[in-house]
Amino acid sequence: MDGALPLVSIVCPAFQEEDVLPIFHERLQAALKALEHRFRFEIIYVDDGSADRTLEVLKQIAHLDPTVSYLSLSRNFGHQAALTAGLEHARGDAVISMDADLQHPPAVLAELLNHWQDGYDVVITIRADDDRLPWLKRFTSSAFYWLMQQISETEIRMSASDFRLMSRKALQALLQLKEQHRFVRGMVQWLGYRVKEVPFQPDERYAGVSKYTFQRMLRLAGDGLFSFSRAPLRVPLYLSGVFLALAAVHMVLAGVAWLQSSGTTTWHYLMLVVHLGIGAVLGSLGILGEYVGRVHDQVKERPIYLLKECEMRPLAATVPAERREAA
Ligand code: UDP
Ligand code: MG
Repeated sequence: MDGALPLVSIVCPAFQEEDVLPIFHERLQAALKALEHRFRFEIIYVDDGSADRTLEVLKQIAHLDPTVSYLSLSRNFGHQAALTAGLEHARGDAVISMDADLQHPPAVLAELLNHWQDGYDVVITIRADDDRLPWLKRFTSSAFYWLMQQISETEIRMSASDFRLMSRKALQALLQLKEQHRFVRGMVQWLGYRVKEVPFQPDERYAGVSKYTFQRMLRLAGDGLFSFSRAPLRVPLYLSGVFLALAAVHMVLAGVAWLQSSGTTTWHYLMLVVHLGIGAVLGSLGILGEYVGRVHDQVKERPIYLLKECEMRPLAATVPAERREAA
């Protein structure tokens, strides 16, 4: 660490935020000023291929404030990609990601940093339910997190946001995850380490409109669902169970009809064959799904494990003391 104070990087993706950025930067600067005696800060803005004057505004801000760096992506790659670009360029001992629209209040920064200094590697924020948001957004968001909690192999916290702090260790680990479809809040949970949760009250978007259209939200939800759960692949396997059970029922009914010579055996035989056939096809699809799931895990190439701590003692210690002296 050069300089006595730890360096903290603040990463803010911005897409068409020309109206918000000047005021956001002013408020952020004010919040950071109050922490100046404890930390050094660098701010990294990522222009996610905006079509408006976002990049010009960022250049002006950077011109006036030497702690500001900016990246500009060649086109709009989406929030999660822009966030990743910013995180890759961050040089801090800790890095904080936050939205540039003032919904993530800069006042919370001090709390995130306190927990980091208490030894937490990841400090996530949990958004309080905001009744100013449209009901459809609130409903779909709760439904999504509920579903993820039921089927995800990684615990995804309800209402987790992309406002969070990571230590250099956690960031380095996150950057080892090279998957294309990035659901960063899930990836951070996957890392493990010591995680602290901080609740916060989101503010209203300062200006402009939400860039997460319904379609984009669906895509993000899909990335979360398919990257963190194999449950969808198992659906055919479960369905095949249902069909095989129905086949068994018809087999029993056919047997009973045969014993009673009641003459309706043909119908049950027919149903038995149909259900058995469908059950076999779905079962094979389910088995295929298991292989596809494994291939999917393999191509993601996530690390097999991550270390929290490690102390490898020098091998010299394995030689008994007498022999060490003799040598
Ligand atoms: N954003 C981005 N690229 C996109 C969409 C959004 O960098 O394609 C940024 C946006 O500028 C903001 C943050 O991601 O800083 C969150 O987006 P937004 O506020 O529109 O989403 P919401 O808060 O409504 O979920
Ligand atoms: Mg927002």
